[in-house]
Amino acid sequence: MGELIIGCHLSTSNGYAAMAADAVSINATTFAFFTRNPRGGNARELDEKDLASFLDTLEEHGIGPLVAHAPYTYNLCSAKPETVEFARRAMREDLERMERMPGHLYNFHPGAHVKQGADEGIRLICEGLNEVLEPGQATTVLLETMAGKGTEVGRSFEELARIIDGVAHDELLGVCLDTCHVADAGYDIVHDLDGVLDEFDRVIGLDRLRALHLNDSKNPLGSHKDRHEKIGAGALGLETFRAVVTNPRLSGLPMVLETPQTGLDGWATEIALLRSFSDAHRS
Ligand code: FE
Ligand code: FE
Ligand code: ZN
Repeated sequence: MGELIIGCHLSTSNGYAAMAADAVSINATTFAFFTRNPRGGNARELDEKDLASFLDTLEEHGIGPLVAHAPYTYNLCSAKPETVEFARRAMREDLERMERMPGHLYNFHPGAHVKQGADEGIRLICEGLNEVLEPGQATTVLLETMAGKGTEVGRSFEELARIIDGVAHDELLGVCLDTCHVADAGYDIVHDLDGVLDEFDRVIGLDRLRALHLNDSKNPLGSHKDRHEKIGAGALGLETFRAVVTNPRLSGLPMVLETPQTGLDGWATEIALLRSFSDAHRS
């Protein structure tokens, strides 16, 4: 097994170069960032010098692949056509910008069907992805496993498999497994991580699994709440995360913390802890 590829969600507010420097300062070897303001709005133009310095830092420290995150406001399966249109346009713009940092991952929440039903939601998500994805693009787009809060689509492996099935250029698609979300959705990764991975493999195919979000959950299995907790402080517990970072089937995948922290120190501590589990297993 190789070294753990681990990091956390970082802010772009001081620019891309500063974000990469933050990653280095906490010993992160991957990270996530919002491709634009999480509440939507226009994306800032990429500053060429900032971008070049960012790419240099990634290269110098062997950081990546990165797992960019689309804003939560995108909803490819809204009942409002203007919301759907915004999500499609914004995703296309995000992916165009990501061509400037080729070879990374772009994760998004499939959407909320807002009482149109999961079937209609899945149809609209497929239609949106078929419009947005560009054959030959250098970024793999990841569907995130969802907790099943409200009318979220992607609450089961079956729903994610149906989306992938409905997309023409499915070679551009993968899945990001969020530990809090799958537990909230009812998959028992606490007692049977390997059983859940078996099911993922049977329904979706493990080759589609390209990244993980590491979050403990404030709520018990199957609660559909989506409230993240610090690693080891929630319903999943430390041993679940030890099992995740040492599981050979998850080796080599970028793992991103989205735990509630007030500063970089908290993530640095979690990164060091999870690395220690992984290193102990490898030696
Ligand atoms: Fe997410
Ligand atoms: Fe997540
Ligand atoms: Zn979440």
